[in-house]
Amino acid sequence: MKTNIIVGSGIAGSVLARRLAEENNEQVLVVEKRKYIGGYCYDYRDENGILIHKHGPHIFRTESKKVWEFLSRFTDWEDYQHKVLTNVNGQFYPMPINLDTVNRFLGTNYTAENVDDYFNSHRTSPTEINCVKDVIESQIGSEFYHAFFEKYTEKQWGLPCEQLPPEIVARIPIRKNRDDRYFTHRYQALPKEGYTKMIQGILDHSNIHILLNTEYKTIKDSIDCKHIYYSGAIDEYYDYCYGKLPYRSVTFEFETYPIEQYQPVSVVNYPNNYDYTRITEFKHFYHIKTTNTVIAKEIPHADGDPSYPIPTNENKELYNKYAAIPNDNVTFIGRLGEYKYYSMDQIIEKMMEYEI
Ligand code: UDP
Repeated sequence: MKTNIIVGSGIAGSVLARRLAEENNEQVLVVEKRKYIGGYCYDYRDENGILIHKHGPHIFRTESKKVWEFLSRFTDWEDYQHKVLTNVNGQFYPMPINLDTVNRFLGTNYTAENVDDYFNSHRTSPTEINCVKDVIESQIGSEFYHAFFEKYTEKQWGLPCEQLPPEIVARIPIRKNRDDRYFTHRYQALPKEGYTKMIQGILDHSNIHILLNTEYKTIKDSIDCKHIYYSGAIDEYYDYCYGKLPYRSVTFEFETYPIEQYQPVSVVNYPNNYDYTRITEFKHFYHIKTTNTVIAKEIPHADGDPSYPIPTNENKELYNKYAAIPNDNVTFIGRLGEYKYYSMDQIIEKMMEYEI
């Protein structure tokens, strides 16, 4: 029986591999260029006993019972409600913006009942919502936009907010209540033993074989395969024949401190100062007690391993040119293959619904 090839062992490739192996009883060869599985979800326990997310904070949340139940076959869960603070002018504020953020930033005493007075007198009324700036200013006005969003977004994406589409901040609400959770999804938790263990479980099937440390290009001519599912960057697959698709890359600067706690919550954002966007302190994810703590500062770049597709119209058009190249043998999947700013649960849901 001919094997399927899945390029990349991240969440998209792993879920699809499992389905092909389990539902269709097909052979699957997972080809992974790194020396570990999991793609950007990869985590490991360090010498301090802390689970480190090597490629930045991954907080699992979903509204989908189906997605939750699928993953629950492969992991137990650690209850975790993600909370983020943002540092503006040296003060910490809840993020997303809620009633407390508004009152502390303005020095006011608005309540859930009358905070609309502020919003209504400060929000703008653009005829169309075309960019990140429009989304935020039309909800809460320019003062909050400048202090909490403008510089963070420009640092993160390398473009002015006027050139970035609304979808980038669509996932960040503005709240009138005091809820300080980053997400309010029905299911929110972290895999008890980490993402790598969970993905190991997903890939643990007698029909699935994994090749680590292997660039797909080095083996592609030696295997007569049934179908290829490619979760790497689509422009790279086609040797950049229409030019490079812009992606945002992120460098993580890890630091260890001989202290119990570096910051009060797992993630603190730094919208206006420094070249990093946020600092993650990993021990908060699993509420563990250790004498040391490990943090990572996140610095966005234009070059490096592609991480975030930059969904401007121009880039989407270039992606569409690549996607239109006739190719019956290959299906492009995941954030890089589809050039979409997916969260983990969105990718899993898509892969679960995929016709195989
Ligand atoms: N964002 C911002 N200020 C913040 C947090 C987020 O301007 O304090 C914007 C920024 O453009 C960011 C987007 O909202 O890229 C989505 O934020 P999220 O935390 O979901 O980003 P991710 O975890 O996917 O990097």
